[in-house]
Amino acid sequence: MISCPICSNGEIDYALQKNNYSFDSCKNCDFLFLNPMPDQNTLNKIYTEEDTKTKDGYKKASSRLRRAFIKLPRFLPYAINKNCMDFGCGGGFIAYALSFIAKSSSGVDINKKAIAYAKKRFGRVNYFNADFKKLLDSENQYDFVHSSELIEHVSDINLYMRVLENLVKKNGYLYITTPDLGHPKVPNNITEWDVLCPPIHVQHFTKKTVTKLFNKYGFEIIKFYKNKKPGLIFLSKKL
Ligand SMILES: [Zn+2]
Repeated sequence: MISCPICSNGEIDYALQKNNYSFDSCKNCDFLFLNPMPDQNTLNKIYTEEDTKTKDGYKKASSRLRRAFIKLPRFLPYAINKNCMDFGCGGGFIAYALSFIAKSSSGVDINKKAIAYAKKRFGRVNYFNADFKKLLDSENQYDFVHSSELIEHVSDINLYMRVLENLVKKNGYLYITTPDLGHPKVPNNITEWDVLCPPIHVQHFTKKTVTKLFNKYGFEIIKFYKNKKPGLIFLSKKL
């Protein structure tokens, strides 16, 4: 790889190494990413084998559910009586909470076990399993799409963005969260940051990176939410 996957013309340089994985960074947009990048099949194996389930169901299920309902007021202006989707829904907590304010609520995940859990535990929501290619061909579009802590995991960032571009209706809203590489609480020596954990997280962003990336795909960032923890939380609108 000789140029930045986000801004194309950005000059990239070797940045650091952790867990025997090597990261490059872009001088132009701050994007920090694995180079070489593992392919999506390799990454999917890692996630589906990840221990998200316990014998009683889903890891931290009750706190996940409580936190999903606590977040509802924030989603309300964009999601009320709208068609909503949680992209990367895991055990289905957010999609379930959204179903109480939305016209319709859907949840999609690549992890079949997670979808099976969501379907069994929660009604009201259209949960389904799909990969990016299938979503790229999908004709269903949504007014409000939520995608939390997914963008840092994907092998092909431009493919993920094309899926978002396809899923969000014109003038619809997109709510994203991901670790914040530019946050003051990130250690100066970023290899000491526990969130930097390849190959679970394969890339990291700052406000500058996501602004360039989302603009490239026709989204305008409406706001960055304040966060005491090193996480980017932002709302964008599809123009
Ligand atoms: Zn760049």
